[in-house]
Amino acid sequence: MQNDKLLSVIIPAYNEQDMISKTFHTVKEILDGANIPFELLFVDDGSKDMTYANISELSKSHSEIRGISFSRNFGKESAIFAGLENASGACCVIMDCDLQHPPATIVEMYRFWEQGYEVVEGVKASRGKESAFHKLCANSFYGIISKVTDIDMANASDFKLLDRRAMDALLLMPERAPFFRALSSWIGFKTTSVSFEVQERTVGDSKWSMWSLTKYAIRNITSFSGAPMQFVTFMGWIMLLFSVIFAAHSLYRYFTGTALEGFTTVILLQLIIGSVLMISLGVIGHYISRIYDEIKGRPRYLISKRCGY
Ligand code: UDP
Ligand code: MG
Repeated sequence: MQNDKLLSVIIPAYNEQDMISKTFHTVKEILDGANIPFELLFVDDGSKDMTYANISELSKSHSEIRGISFSRNFGKESAIFAGLENASGACCVIMDCDLQHPPATIVEMYRFWEQGYEVVEGVKASRGKESAFHKLCANSFYGIISKVTDIDMANASDFKLLDRRAMDALLLMPERAPFFRALSSWIGFKTTSVSFEVQERTVGDSKWSMWSLTKYAIRNITSFSGAPMQFVTFMGWIMLLFSVIFAAHSLYRYFTGTALEGFTTVILLQLIIGSVLMISLGVIGHYISRIYDEIKGRPRYLISKRCGY
């Protein structure tokens, strides 16, 4: 196999036992048809079902397959980074195991890579079938994250092709909680994009609950921006403005001898200031806990098993 043409297809898989073989055969058929040399790297993200067993079984009969299994669930981001670290291709594509990212688009991406592009972003033509509420949340998340990162992320996805240089650049990031989708634009390089239609998931269901998505959103916003802390300062200025007005008002009442009323105002102020202070402490606390997580310097993932090597 000519190694300077080799494409590593990286597929994070979490409880996807029914998809392994199907995904492999679909990808293989398309890449063989397009004459693209490839290896397929499944990263089993600590699945509780037969995912890894299926990968290692399949790897016995197909030399293109490599498999890595985490010691527990570390999250998709970690799985992607494990894939980058263990891929041996001259370029790689990251795609979902549920075939929601159409494998035919890989060929399109690969052709761009052959023309010299180093990052090929998969951009969602539409967001596929999602509830209105989910769309609203996704839109506000991407609105905020696009603002703080200065990268338009409205239709971004994890479906991307990266050249070896871009992969190595990403692996230089020491972050414990990397946000892959945004980091891949942050690194720069010669970039283009292809749009794809999000396919429907045929087997299993989405691994994301509303709660995990909320945590994901907060984590990623704070990993890219200190803006929430500036919001604390902003609130401080607003409170200062109010305090000048109220101070003037109170002094006026005092000197005209009509003070002593305004008990309600005092209570309201206490409540408002109390909440603003607590939220502010929470925001700062969140950043401290992120610093704490980073400073511990634990590995992003632990590998317990490998196959196909
Ligand atoms: N995934 C993972 N670890 C996790 C959750 C998900 O590796 O903790 C993988 C999953 O197997 C799939 C991809 O990430 O290949 C996208 O997950 P899913 O389809 O559940 O997300 P959605 O398409 O709903 O965004
Ligand atoms: Mg999916």
